[in-house]
Amino acid sequence: MYALVRYYIVPPIFVVLFTVATQVLVHLGNSTSEIYFETFLNVGTAYSWTVVGIFMLWAYLSLIVPSKVFLGPTTPAGYIPRYSANGTQYYLISLLVYLIIVYLKPTLPVEIFENFGDIIATLNIFSLVFCMFLIFKGYTFPEVKEGALDKPLPYQFYAGIELHPSLLGVDVKQWTNCRVGMLGWALLVLNFSIAAVSLNDFSFAPFTNSLLINIYLLKFFYWETGYFNTLDITLDRAGYYLCWGCLTWVQIFYTFSAYYLVDHPSKVSNSGAGVIFIFGLISLVLNYTVDYQKEKFKASNGECYIWGKKAKFISVEYKNHVGKVKKSKLLISGFWGIARHTNYVFELMLALSWSLPGLGQGIWTFMYFIFLLVLLVHRTLRDEEKCSAKYGDGWKKYCQQVPYRMIPYVF
Ligand code: NDP
Repeated sequence: MYALVRYYIVPPIFVVLFTVATQVLVHLGNSTSEIYFETFLNVGTAYSWTVVGIFMLWAYLSLIVPSKVFLGPTTPAGYIPRYSANGTQYYLISLLVYLIIVYLKPTLPVEIFENFGDIIATLNIFSLVFCMFLIFKGYTFPEVKEGALDKPLPYQFYAGIELHPSLLGVDVKQWTNCRVGMLGWALLVLNFSIAAVSLNDFSFAPFTNSLLINIYLLKFFYWETGYFNTLDITLDRAGYYLCWGCLTWVQIFYTFSAYYLVDHPSKVSNSGAGVIFIFGLISLVLNYTVDYQKEKFKASNGECYIWGKKAKFISVEYKNHVGKVKKSKLLISGFWGIARHTNYVFELMLALSWSLPGLGQGIWTFMYFIFLLVLLVHRTLRDEEKCSAKYGDGWKKYCQQVPYRMIPYVF
C-alpha cells in the first residue's frame, strides 16, 4: 500500500497540483489578470518564448565558455561530475547586462510583469517536456549506468533517473539549478521592484526584498562549487522535483513576494524598510558564518580556531563507495556546538526579512517563508538520516554532545 501511494499516486498528484498552482499564483499576485479554464491551457506567446529562449541560451553559454573546471564528489558508481567554476562572473555580468537593457528599454520591467502569466506558461511547457526527455535519456543514453531504473515510471518522472546527466557538453543540474534557477530568481525580483516603483510611488520596501535576495544569491554564486557537495546534487536525481522546480517553481514561487508588491504597494515606511534590511543583513551574515565555520574546519582538517579557541570535534568513521573505511571529524565548536542546524535557522530569519515588506497585506508575501520552514525542517530530518547511516555510532555520539537540531530547548 505504501509503495502504491509513494510510487504511483503521490507523484502524478504533485505534478498536476504544483503545475496548476503556478498559474493560480500569477493570478493571485496581479489583480488585473483574469483566471479562466483556458488559463491552464496557455501555451505562451512569441514574446514569452523569446524572453525564455534568450535567457536559457545565455545560461547555457555561461557553461560552455572556457573557464576553470570543478570536479564534484565521486558517485557510488565512481563517476566524477565536471562543473564550470565561473558562477560569480556569470552573476555579475548578467546583472550588468540586465541593468544596461533596462536603461536602454525602461519599459522592460513592467512588460515582464504584465506578460508573467505567458512566461510561466512557457517555462511550464518547456520544463515538462524537458523532464520527459530526461526520462528518455535515462533509459536510452545515460551518462553512467547508475540510474534509478528499478522504480515505476510515475515516480521516475517525479524524482528523476540520472544523478548527473549531461547534455550538449554541460551538466544538466548546474544548468537548471544554478544558471537558470538562481539567476532567474535574482533578476526577476529586481525586475519586479523596478516595476513596482515605475507603477507606484517610490518606496524602499520592495528593494529591501530584491536587494537582500540579490546579496544572498551573490553569496550563492560565489560559493557555487560548494553547492555541488550538497544533497540537491549528491542525492537528488534530475527529474520534475529538481529540474521543473528550478526552471519554473523558483521563478514564480520564490519571486512571489516581489511580484505581489507590484500590484499591492507595500505599506511599510522607508524607515521600517531600513530596519527590515538590517535584520536581513544580520541574518545573512550569521548564516554565512555558520557555513564558513564548517568549511574552514573541513579545509584545515580540524586544525583551526573558532571564536578564538581551538576547534573541538568528535572523530568518526565511515565506509566510502568501495567499502574502504575512512576517518572524518564532526565539529562541535562555534555555532555547530549550539545546535546541529543553526544555519537553517538564520536562513529562515533571512527569508522572513524578504516577506516583511508585505506586512499588513495578509499571508501572501510570507508564503516562501512558510514553504522554506517546512522544507528545512524536512531537510534536517533527511540530512540526519543520511549522516546517521554514514557515521553510525559516531553520529549518535555527536547527537548526545549537541542534542538539539535547530533551536536549543525547542527542536
Ligand atoms: P549543511 O551545510 O548543514 O551540511 C550538512 C552536511 O554537513 C552533513 O550532511 C554532513 O556531511 C556535514 N556535517 C553535518 N554536521 C557536521 C559537523 N558538525 N561537522 C562537520 N560536518 C558536518 O546543509 P546544506 O548543505 O543543506 O546547506 C548549506 C547551505 O545552504 C545552508 O546555509 C542552508 O541554509 C542553505 N540552504 C538553502 C536552501 C534554500 O532553499 N534556500 C535549501 C537548502 C540549504 P558530510 O557527509 O560531509 O559529513
